[in-house]
Amino acid sequence: MKNAAEYFGCNVFNDRKMQERLPKAVYKALRKTIENGEALDLGTANAVAHAMKEWAIELGCTHFTHWFQPMTGVTAEKHDSFITPKGDEAIMEFSGKELIKGEPDASSFPSGGIRATFEARGYTTWDPTSPAFVRDGTLYIPTAFCSYTGEVLDKKTPLLRSMDKLSREAVRLLRLLGKTDVNRVTTTVGPEQEYFLIDRETYKKRPDLIYTGRTLFGAMAPKGQELDDHYFGSIKTRVAEYMRDLDKELWKLGIFAKTKHNEVAPSQHELAPVFTTANIATDHNELTMEVMKKTAEKHGLVCLLHEKPFAGVNGSGKHNNWSISTDTGENLLNPTKCPEDNLQFQLFLAAVIKAVDEYQDLLRITVASAGNDHRLGANEAPPAIISMYLGDDLGALVESIIEGKDYKSHMAAKIETGVDALPDFKKDNSDRNRTSPFAFTGNKFEFRALGSSLNIACPNYILNTMVAEELSQFCEALGDSADIEADAKALVKKVLTEHRRIIFNGDNYSDEWVAEAEKRGLCNYKSLPEAMEHYIDQKNIELFAKNGIVTETEMHARYEIELEQYSKLLNIEALTMLEMAKKSIAPAVMEFAKELAEGISMKKCVSSSISAYAEESLLESLSSQLEAFVKKTSELEAAVSNAAEYSDNLSQAKYYRNTVFALMNELREIGDSMEKQTSRQYWPYPSYGEMLFGV
Ligand code: ADP
Ligand code: MG
Repeated sequence: MKNAAEYFGCNVFNDRKMQERLPKAVYKALRKTIENGEALDLGTANAVAHAMKEWAIELGCTHFTHWFQPMTGVTAEKHDSFITPKGDEAIMEFSGKELIKGEPDASSFPSGGIRATFEARGYTTWDPTSPAFVRDGTLYIPTAFCSYTGEVLDKKTPLLRSMDKLSREAVRLLRLLGKTDVNRVTTTVGPEQEYFLIDRETYKKRPDLIYTGRTLFGAMAPKGQELDDHYFGSIKTRVAEYMRDLDKELWKLGIFAKTKHNEVAPSQHELAPVFTTANIATDHNELTMEVMKKTAEKHGLVCLLHEKPFAGVNGSGKHNNWSISTDTGENLLNPTKCPEDNLQFQLFLAAVIKAVDEYQDLLRITVASAGNDHRLGANEAPPAIISMYLGDDLGALVESIIEGKDYKSHMAAKIETGVDALPDFKKDNSDRNRTSPFAFTGNKFEFRALGSSLNIACPNYILNTMVAEELSQFCEALGDSADIEADAKALVKKVLTEHRRIIFNGDNYSDEWVAEAEKRGLCNYKSLPEAMEHYIDQKNIELFAKNGIVTETEMHARYEIELEQYSKLLNIEALTMLEMAKKSIAPAVMEFAKELAEGISMKKCVSSSISAYAEESLLESLSSQLEAFVKKTSELEAAVSNAAEYSDNLSQAKYYRNTVFALMNELREIGDSMEKQTSRQYWPYPSYGEMLFGV
């Protein structure tokens, strides 16, 4: 049995393997492409492809696939074998061309009207900055995806573009400040991933979980998360075994899985990796989610990545830890010991603050989804209002700059434990505010509003783009400065003063904050349709077009895709509910009611003096609820069929949200109330207790 460090990355064509297996000149050319984005010639590509193939074959591979991230929300792959005929025999071949370019039939991927279905051509292109890897006998090549006419059809391309753009603007600003040794700035990301694990046999009895990933009916169990006994609690043996296996699989794929623990809700857990570049972090997070699901199968479990699988207990999110570092190893969001004297840090901080304030709508939009709507703005972490938390120290620094007052840093304060045997330790420079959607945490920002199943490419390309835009404005403002220090100071002060409203250090869950945020003019979009409407606001189109991330046409396409997918998802949920209601729940309650009625009449036959009070009151209650349930089912059914009348995606999505979704909630309420009164023997589905506590 090898130790973890020995098998770490064994399934990845990583830097060490490239160095070992590629001729020196080829390796050097490839490194230049990876580090500086220089174009790769076909000769180099051929040599890389050959080495990759040889390595993959040694690991038992017969196929390769271009792996990409279309607008479906999941990754896509199409496998081709290395087999090439030679006479009547076969040889294993893989060319540079095949490595660089693929051509999947793109007709069934959403394009938001960019391309008619008959225009099927789409191309995938190798992304050499994210290493190839082996899974299940196939060589996976991370790729970007575009249409025949060059329109972007995926999530990776805008991310890569935004990383380049941010790098260029950050380097430009650093040069203005006199820092000339930096050539590239990289966005770093560490996503903390929450998930639920439930028993596979129980899962198989729940059509709602199978079709939609969340329970559409289900009365709360007697116990939820109120005791906080699951959070960080000791991990059950079966789950611990799963986590061990998961770590191992992820490590083999070169993913730095680091932290694991139980989360707040029963059966909920979390995994956090060590951060890496935004691009690799995105690919790794997509892979992590896939491996989580696959590994669960082996353990007789199911991994649920839906944002709200169980009403009544916490849903799952993803914390996107984000920062920027130079190729000289400096974290640009590190306040250092004396942030009051660190103008460079202040400028980058000011750029993020200005960006979050000006593009709060985009941050909200990027985390909007049918699943995440159950969390954001619905009494659960975090709220739909985007604000920033800086912590006491930075908060005080910002105040002192705005007010022109002196500031004394507390950055290196110590905590005295008061116990001789325990070491004193250095305090972090910001406490935590768990309720904030966008919090400064030491030397990075943590964007906490992401849903658990979201592809993190989107929030990160939005973050990168908006910060790049602010940096570029700073460069414009300071470009001709004769006294850079004085002018930069004045700029920081101006920006912080103008964007102070986005900073909020209090409780983001309180009603007072909702009122206060409204006074401050912050936006509060409660659902996807409400938020998405603003995606194509002129200022947002300008942001992306100006910075060369996505075009206006591509934005309109994305807008249509998101709205259409939202409606489709809600439609599936409504149809699933109808099926459960009509085929199982109503018949089960009727059956139980029949038994009650028979019991009552049998008692009455024996003697009129025997009490049938229990049966009669239950029967009465269930019968009236059943009537309401059946009527509500018909209402929902009618509402669903009316949805077809809306021809534009926005009004249809709004209709699903305001009418269909509202009816679904009403139907669920009656169904859950009946579940509480119906004998366990009759109820057709496993209860919350069985799913969350295994009872
Ligand atoms: P929490 O207390 O919120 O669970 P942790 O301290 O465990 O936070 O870190 C969360 C994540 O932040 C980890 O994935 C970690 O690698 C990541 N992280 C740390 N530093 C950076 C950075 N400079 N850039 C991006 N992510 C970072
Ligand atoms: Mg966190």
